Amino acid sequence: MGRVRALTYTAFGATPVVASVPDPSAPPGGAVVRVVASGLCRSDWHGWMGHDDDITTFPHVPGHELAGVVASVGEGVDAGWLGRAVTAPFVMACGECAVCRAGAGQVCPHQRQPGFTDPGCFAELAVVHAAETNLVALPDGLDPAVAAGLGCRVATAYRAVVSRAVVREGESVVVIGCGGVGLASVAIARSRGAHVCAVDVSAGSLDRALFHGADEVVDASIGADKVVAAVAAWSGGGASVSIDALGSPQACRTGILALGRRGRHVQVGLLPPTAGRADVPMERVIGWELDVLGSHGMAAADYGPLLDDVVSGRLDLGELLAPGEPLGLAAAGEALVAMGSSPSTGIVLVDPAR
Ligand SMILES: [Zn+2]
Ligand SMILES: [Zn+2]
Repeated sequence: MGRVRALTYTAFGATPVVASVPDPSAPPGGAVVRVVASGLCRSDWHGWMGHDDDITTFPHVPGHELAGVVASVGEGVDAGWLGRAVTAPFVMACGECAVCRAGAGQVCPHQRQPGFTDPGCFAELAVVHAAETNLVALPDGLDPAVAAGLGCRVATAYRAVVSRAVVREGESVVVIGCGGVGLASVAIARSRGAHVCAVDVSAGSLDRALFHGADEVVDASIGADKVVAAVAAWSGGGASVSIDALGSPQACRTGILALGRRGRHVQVGLLPPTAGRADVPMERVIGWELDVLGSHGMAAADYGPLLDDVVSGRLDLGELLAPGEPLGLAAAGEALVAMGSSPSTGIVLVDPAR
């Protein structure tokens, strides 16, 4: 058995190191992908901190925003996949259960998540389970590095805005938190003809939100009550849709209170219980008939419209999908650790071959 390079850590909070790990083989029904690029995401930091119960074995390989080329396939998988440029959702569905058959693989009860339940893609080779369900063939002309940038954040934002909130032309959308998923939400909502207000504490993040099409920005450091008042003034009584792209009890509550009557709140940012439970104003949810919706990734079968929007230019993600030089594995480990003390600056790519 050969060996491949991977970023690993031996305990929660332990310094990630570049190590040589066993060369994975394709399991029955699965495939092995030679990783061309992988996004580095705040979920990787949450996992490293021990906020995710799915990580149970060490050393652990993080990374869940995968793009690459199919290197081998297991029993039962079409050999036509070999050599194809692919991506895969971070929620890898089983493809066989009733939930999957109903088209909701993003919440499959038997889901596996690379970088959490399984070794991730900060490695030269990564396994995709249930390959026929989870592999997404990239259209011609879409660079795998760009596809990695679509990773969990853009795909998650796309499902939240398009499939969960069902944002329509002319609606007002408030996006709280302007990291990767927030900026993608801003751009996607704009591509659907909505008016967008972005909220963040960072002036730099608000500048990026303006660049991605926000009509209005609000500095969250003025305090939650004033943010709610500012959104109400901007939208004429409350937003049609709020998206918590940050994931904090305060952002969740602010998002719900910033809605107008019959508004829809989509919770995208993770709310690990260790950060405290969100205090959801249910009296408002009832009295104003608000919808509070969760959004969890996006199933492979639903990637088509997103890829079409990117390739056609309807959705222009600009520099979000054309970040600077990818990091090598060692630099990725340093960047992962630094995420705890630095604001998100959008999408960072990792090239495991570097
Ligand atoms: Zn399933
Ligand atoms: Zn992610």
